Amino acid sequence: MNEVDAISRGRELFRQRRWAEAFGVLAGADEVRPLDAEDLDRLATAAYLVGRVDESEACRTTSSCSVRERCAFGGSPTHDDLHLVMVNWPTAQFAAVRDDIDRSVSRALGMAPDFAARVRAGRREDNWHGTAGVPGYFRKPFGKGWALVGDAGYNRDPITAQGISDAFIDATALSAAIATGLSEPASAGAALAAYETARNDRVRPMYEFTSHLAELEPPPAPMQALFGALRGNQDATNAFLSAITGAIPLQEFMSDEKSGASSRRERERRFWREAR
Ligand SMILES: Cc1cc2nc3c(=O)[nH]c(=O)nc-3n(C[C@H](O)[C@H](O)[C@H](O)COP(=O)(O)OP(=O)(O)OC[C@H]3O[C@@H](n4cnc5c(N)ncnc54)[C@H](O)[C@@H]3O)c2cc1C
Repeated sequence: MNEVDAISRGRELFRQRRWAEAFGVLAGADEVRPLDAEDLDRLATAAYLVGRVDESEACRTTSSCSVRERCAFGGSPTHDDLHLVMVNWPTAQFAAVRDDIDRSVSRALGMAPDFAARVRAGRREDNWHGTAGVPGYFRKPFGKGWALVGDAGYNRDPITAQGISDAFIDATALSAAIATGLSEPASAGAALAAYETARNDRVRPMYEFTSHLAELEPPPAPMQALFGALRGNQDATNAFLSAITGAIPLQEFMSDEKSGASSRRERERRFWREAR
């Protein structure tokens, strides 16, 4: 059996829930050529379900995320061998989800059977905790005798998960502005105003992107085109994920070199117009 056949066979065994055999076949295929993320996930699940917990952890990608019809869900290891399982729905569905959380979660996870199998194989340690979303806002972050950092200064839906690093960046920038004000009192107002301007310039593109993403609506045409362009382009995909996680500015990603766009300005213009 060559490795392509082995992978097909492994998937079929996995589908049939023949975990031990699926583990053996997929592990063998992985030795010949590294499995892709989805097959690696199957291997990790099969390993887990036959009690090979260490091997499961070794081949498990640290986090997973699935986007399905109007919902997104995934898991991530936390502490004490626990895993967070999170599910996002559009805010409009909040009341319906709260009416029967377990059924709603089960229906959502059912759209990614491999992930659902992993969740079912675990033991629930806590109640579900939920929020109907958070309001987005920008506040003036300083005045006479006071200043704001973090969520107090501006906020956006947590779907892009950057609030913690943003709060640290704010704290660093505000400290510098205050230090300037203390050493040169005449410059205090200008330093604080510069703090606000720099914050707004830095976070505004991601704020707008996040506001759109949090609606969990199908992406607008330019974004669909962008996702199409990312397919099979690992460097651009890496750059996109870096932008989404805040490792590089979103604007930097929207450059010809990184996104593979034919016309950077046109793509950017259309992207933000649609995203608003
Ligand atoms: C569901 C959800 C998921 C999130 N996931 C992520 C994620 O994965 N990654 C990420 O980076 N960000 C995430 N965020 C956002 C992140 O939690 C916040 O952006 C971040 O915690 C902001 O830090 P902060 O210090 O500004 O505010 P907070 O963390 O809210 O801290 C403010 C503190 O001040 C206290 N406080 C309030 N009023 C008073 C008072 N009058 N006197 C004394 N104390 C007071 C509060 O109790 C609180 O402890 C998430 C947010 C939510 C809601």
